[in-house]
Amino acid sequence: MKAFASDLDRTLIYSKKMIDTYGGEAGCQLIETLDGREISFISEKTRENLRKIHEKMLFIPVTTRTTEQYKRITFFQEAVIPEYAITTNGGCILKNGSPIREWSSFIDGQLQSCMPIKDMLEEIAKLPLSQLAERVRTAHHYFVYLIFSEENVGKINASAAKAWAADKGWQASLQGRKLYFIPEPLNKWRAVDYLKNRLNIDEVYAAGDSLLDFDLIAQADYGVSPAHGEVLQHHPDLNATVRPGMQSADDITEHIVNLLIPASQRKQTIF
Ligand SMILES: [Mg+2]
Repeated sequence: MKAFASDLDRTLIYSKKMIDTYGGEAGCQLIETLDGREISFISEKTRENLRKIHEKMLFIPVTTRTTEQYKRITFFQEAVIPEYAITTNGGCILKNGSPIREWSSFIDGQLQSCMPIKDMLEEIAKLPLSQLAERVRTAHHYFVYLIFSEENVGKINASAAKAWAADKGWQASLQGRKLYFIPEPLNKWRAVDYLKNRLNIDEVYAAGDSLLDFDLIAQADYGVSPAHGEVLQHHPDLNATVRPGMQSADDITEHIVNLLIPASQRKQTIF
């Protein structure tokens, strides 16, 4: 069995801001709203490709979103409904919408070994960048993210934040206006690897755009980042699409669909 384990935001699905920056597509569909606001969109081509992928292999969404945030995306609740999904940056594995308890207990044990979130919040509050943040949020008692204004986000030194967090056994990732601090044990690849062993998956294809996707992309049998990916700034030798934005989702999923076809009949790949 083969699996396509993919990040969602800025890889397969896109915000209005990303569409404004890189361009949208005809037939792009709204798939998430919050309090009446339009949050994310998916292109027609990506929808079509995900349907094909979902039919032929295991499609596993792998997201930093909490389970609640993941379940807001209507496309994965109504159109393509994956049996497994990984949320909370690997902290939770859902099977048919419910957490796998064995994995949740394992993660809770692992989290004992790094700086507790309460202490981390105190450390973050001492940083000058905290003064620039509009809001500080915690997700599922697992991790922290700071939200900045457009003006202040440019003042953040992402590499310095990464090094500061690594010192405490945490990871940092800047995604749009959000700066995430996530404990090391919450790792997308480790959750995928657990499913790989549990379900006897032979090959994993993976995609992701952020630094939090690095292990997922690097450890998979085939991994790729969209051209706009944050991860490429730190790891420029990873596979990347040529086109950025929503079109990169079309190219990634097209490539995966192409892998389902016997090698002799495949179309030319685009990256
Ligand atoms: Mg992403």
